Amino acid sequence: MTQIKGIKSVKSVAKFLTMKTLLKAAKIVCLDAQDTIFEPGYLLVEDGRIQSITTSLLDDFAGTAVDLGNKLLMPGLVNAHTHTPMVLFRGLAEGHSLFDFDGWYHTIRVVEEVMTPEMIPAAVLVSCAEMIRTGTTTFADQYFWMEQIVPAVRQSGLRAALGYGVVELGEAVARERELDAATQFLQSVAHDPLIQGWVGPHAFFVDNSEAAMAIELDLAIEFNTGFHIHLSTSGEEDRYCLAKYGRTAIQQLAKMGMLQRPILAAHCLTVPPADYPLLASAPFSAAINPSSAMRNAAGVADACGMLAAGINLALGTDNVTNNNSYDMFKEMQIVGKLMALHHHTPNALPTRTILHMATLGGAKALGLADKIGSLEPGKQADLITLDLDEIGWTPSNGQDVYTALVYAVSGMHVRDVMVAGKWLLRDGRFQTINYPQARHDLETSYAELAQKLQDTGEH
Ligand SMILES: [Zn+2]
Repeated sequence: MTQIKGIKSVKSVAKFLTMKTLLKAAKIVCLDAQDTIFEPGYLLVEDGRIQSITTSLLDDFAGTAVDLGNKLLMPGLVNAHTHTPMVLFRGLAEGHSLFDFDGWYHTIRVVEEVMTPEMIPAAVLVSCAEMIRTGTTTFADQYFWMEQIVPAVRQSGLRAALGYGVVELGEAVARERELDAATQFLQSVAHDPLIQGWVGPHAFFVDNSEAAMAIELDLAIEFNTGFHIHLSTSGEEDRYCLAKYGRTAIQQLAKMGMLQRPILAAHCLTVPPADYPLLASAPFSAAINPSSAMRNAAGVADACGMLAAGINLALGTDNVTNNNSYDMFKEMQIVGKLMALHHHTPNALPTRTILHMATLGGAKALGLADKIGSLEPGKQADLITLDLDEIGWTPSNGQDVYTALVYAVSGMHVRDVMVAGKWLLRDGRFQTINYPQARHDLETSYAELAQKLQDTGEH
């Protein structure tokens, strides 16, 4: 692996707090099954885990105490679907849909052909910085260039499920090359404390042939992992499978044994409702990306219907080329408003359910529900604080806290971010990423990219 400027070695960033740290906050919203709220609250962190959450100071406490002041402390958010390097293309696909072949072919394909691996680290660091700044502590990524992505993610300190993106279009050479690269990537992160390796077929049946899928299934079994895919963005795979097999794509996936592995399926705009029971009985999660789907004029995911059928739902931003934001608070707000409008029913998706999608639902999708997604003793100390002195909260006895979190505040209210007991953001300041440097490097990469595009006459 090449040494990249600004990336620290793994050893230096894999430090965790080994001492006890007691965090005091004006309000702790646990988002657990009991909807516990402490006011004020004391949360004890030891060795990166939550030891206890109480309403009063422990008598026998000996360690570092941190008074966070008038803050709301809650679990960090899980961004269940994105493509971090694509921040480099932000603004380059305006007015195009990335959900149809033509739009993608004339925008993303063009820039991906001239981008270089050296451009990746700064883009990933900027993406991680934007996620940290807006309260995300775990994200699920899908892209190639993993040798460049992994060191940058490690430096950020974020928890991540990285899926090696595979597009092979039925070509044997591409299949062998991509699946070899996927295997090497899965081996490289097999023992990482914060990074999970996933297999990331871009889209089953659409750009991953059945021959590739069979090998991908073997890989997922060998590395005890799952598939991070795009599913049902246009109904293309259903049309293909109905014509070829006489059954829907989901039914064909079941037939091939793919539904026995965890599947994190982005978008799910056109899943036939008749297939919902099949998905509800599988380790399957739908990662809804409302901003991306809306900006691409692609459609509305049936979040309410899938939830009612018992399918686990997570929430994601998708790439920020056309979102254009990593702010999961915005995403929560948008999915709530979209469902209300779509069903002509105020609060069609209750605020507590939306918060679940952005926390424990995302954690469950990644097989991490016992580790993150809520604040409970024994879980990892993945948490964020929001400033209660900022606008949007008042009157606190009028607007309940879940409604405030979904509809009244934004990621810019976030002041502190901790993952596994380590501060990534403290009082609004990045602790692991030199953001001005990363932004400068991204601007330099973009200038180079723009020049290459000009040279090829594409833009
Ligand atoms: Zn995507």
